[in-house]
Amino acid sequence: MARIAFIGVGNMGLPMVRNLLAAGHEVRACDISPDALAEAAKAGATEAVSLADSVTAAEMVVTMVPEGKHVRAVYLGDGGNDGIIGHAPREALLADCSTIDIATAREVAATASEAGYEMIDAPVSGGVAGAAAGTLTFMVGGSETGFERARPVLAAMGRNVAHVGGPGHGQATKICNNMMAGIAIIAASEVFCLGEALGLDAQKLYDVLSTSTGQTRMMDTMNPVPGIVASAPSNRDYAPGFKAALMAKDLGLAQSAAADTGTSTPLGADAAALFRILCRNGGGELDCSAVYKLLHGDL
Ligand code: NAD
Repeated sequence: MARIAFIGVGNMGLPMVRNLLAAGHEVRACDISPDALAEAAKAGATEAVSLADSVTAAEMVVTMVPEGKHVRAVYLGDGGNDGIIGHAPREALLADCSTIDIATAREVAATASEAGYEMIDAPVSGGVAGAAAGTLTFMVGGSETGFERARPVLAAMGRNVAHVGGPGHGQATKICNNMMAGIAIIAASEVFCLGEALGLDAQKLYDVLSTSTGQTRMMDTMNPVPGIVASAPSNRDYAPGFKAALMAKDLGLAQSAAADTGTSTPLGADAAALFRILCRNGGGELDCSAVYKLLHGDL
């Protein structure tokens, strides 16, 4: 069992910590939000008094913070050596599970490597429900050694732990997945709007689509029309789930990656634009399936 420092115990981090504790690991938690930290302590983690305090005796450091700038802040600190790099023992394995831009992931991994650390990027899919159930998918970028070292710990939080390539390739895989998911939830939303306009019963439409070629997991798990899929966020006023603001962020990351590589992604570009409108209309804190409300004229 490992001594793990866990930085960022928010919507995803907290249930991930619960699963690490349940598997017998020791967890020292750190978060800039006192409320989030108190929840982690309630779950059985030790509250660190500072970032440095959380990592000084760690065998593995896991980070789960919102964006690239937060990842940069926790690993590099203010002056470049005042973060996890510099304070964690050189033998500690560093794993960033946040979803961030590929360039930052590679830059931080290179700085860690120069300082003598093994670091992987290991973003996840599965959302808060998958984090709670311990069924996340981890997409790991980094060396084979880093992957093999991380695997048993990641397996306590997820069902699928995949090594997808070198540094940054975990983030690249995650960005591809979320571009697919973002386009799919818009497709499902448009289709149910069209179905209604054509006088179709939404339940009957769903029953047929879910066994036909139009089937998509986003329609099944996050059906945007209330009353069809009991566990979908649409049945609790679109409480997330996966926030529209995070989807907008990830679709933006996909568009930056497309621009950097000269790739044509017209549907990805439209999806990014639509989610930006959803956020501007006040839907950023709602589940991403609230894009249906926008298309339906309710937001
Ligand atoms: P969140 O905002 O609920 O949690 C992030 C936590 O990080 C917060 O508690 C915040 O206080 C903390 N934090 C920020 N800066 C910090 C710092 N400098 N030091 C210590 N703590 C700091 O976000 P979340 O939903 O848990 O998402 C985290 C990451 O996981 C994001 O990159 C997101 O894109 C990704 N993700 C989220 C989901 C989801 O369904 N929510 C699914 C897959 C991936």
